[in-house]
Amino acid sequence: MSVFSAPAFDQHELVSFCSDSDSGLRAIIAVHNTTLGPGVGGCRMYPYASDDDALRDVLRLSRGMTYKSALAGLPLGGGKSVIIGNPRTEKNRELLLAMGDFVNSQSGRYVAAEDSGTGVADMKVIGERTQWVSGLEDNEFGGDPSPSTAWGVYLGMRTAIRHRLGADNFKGLKVAIQGLGHVGYYLARHLRADGATVYGADVNADNLQRAVNELGVIVVDVQDILQREVDIVAPCAMGAILNEQSIPQLRAGIVCGAANNQLATPQDGDHLRDLGILYCPDFLVNAGGIIDVHHQRAGSAEASKREHIARIEGSLAEVLRRADECHSSTESIAEQLAEEYLAQKRAEPPALAAVS
Ligand code: NAD
Repeated sequence: MSVFSAPAFDQHELVSFCSDSDSGLRAIIAVHNTTLGPGVGGCRMYPYASDDDALRDVLRLSRGMTYKSALAGLPLGGGKSVIIGNPRTEKNRELLLAMGDFVNSQSGRYVAAEDSGTGVADMKVIGERTQWVSGLEDNEFGGDPSPSTAWGVYLGMRTAIRHRLGADNFKGLKVAIQGLGHVGYYLARHLRADGATVYGADVNADNLQRAVNELGVIVVDVQDILQREVDIVAPCAMGAILNEQSIPQLRAGIVCGAANNQLATPQDGDHLRDLGILYCPDFLVNAGGIIDVHHQRAGSAEASKREHIARIEGSLAEVLRRADECHSSTESIAEQLAEEYLAQKRAEPPALAAVS
């Protein structure tokens, strides 16, 4: 396994590995950039096929968090952690406590939050060993930021249909959602409430059934969901699903979803543009969750959190406008905007300490 020469390394400030024989924990913490603040990002638990896969994932995800927080105007840097293992069969209290110790050993340069394979209850256990954890507060959803993520993706979609179709609402539009878990479910709820026909696929029968029973989602085979003839495809399951094989088969004009790292490679962003498919960069439209986590930590009022999430619409509109102007992929324009913001912050003089 190479670290410094890994394609996704991209100047990470910190990559830390943990192997704890007592609990069986094998985990990696990556902090990409702390220009704006500590590296805040989810703690993902997944049965990676290899250490290389785990490393690649954590590096790509933490870099995405840097851009996500920058575009959202948050005082947070980019970080992420992964626990190698199956969350259904290998997660236990000892393992999570060891993860808490691992997070704590980074002295606040990384702050953990929930992610795929972990939840609020797990963050509470991690929080027994470290203060550097988020997403514990009790709100209507028990601290879960997923409803905020879904709301941001919905607002992103609204911007995209306005830009591409000149539409003000979803009446008569068809949306295909891949993955009806935490985010996909709430996204489907907003879309159904706004008059869209929603198609959904999920490998988890319970999650699928809930969306069918409660929201009237129409079931589509897992293999067919991305190729469904719809107005919008919303990837809300795993990353790298927009690739050489899948992109030519897309029949939707817009892709807008919550999954992190949807593009397998940067070239896939260009490929989508060449085919005339409007891609909403994931790290821009799925920022509602990290905005929520930030406001939970700050103890803000619900209204200021929602106002902050609503800014996703303006940021995406700006990216779409610039991408049209420059004939560039939306992904590269969004990264460029984030880099501009980081450079501007780096150039600012440090705040002076108060002198009495
Ligand atoms: P989740 O695990 O609750 O839901 C994912 C769903 O996708 C599950 O129901 C799972 O069964 C399903 N799934 C997995 N593989 C599938 C496949 N091949 N086809 C169809 N369905 C499949 O996760 P989540 O919290 O809803 O997050 C979804 C995505 O959004 C993830 O990529 C996550 O990293 C990203 N994301 C989540 C948040 C958040 O606040 N939860 C924030 C930002 C980004």
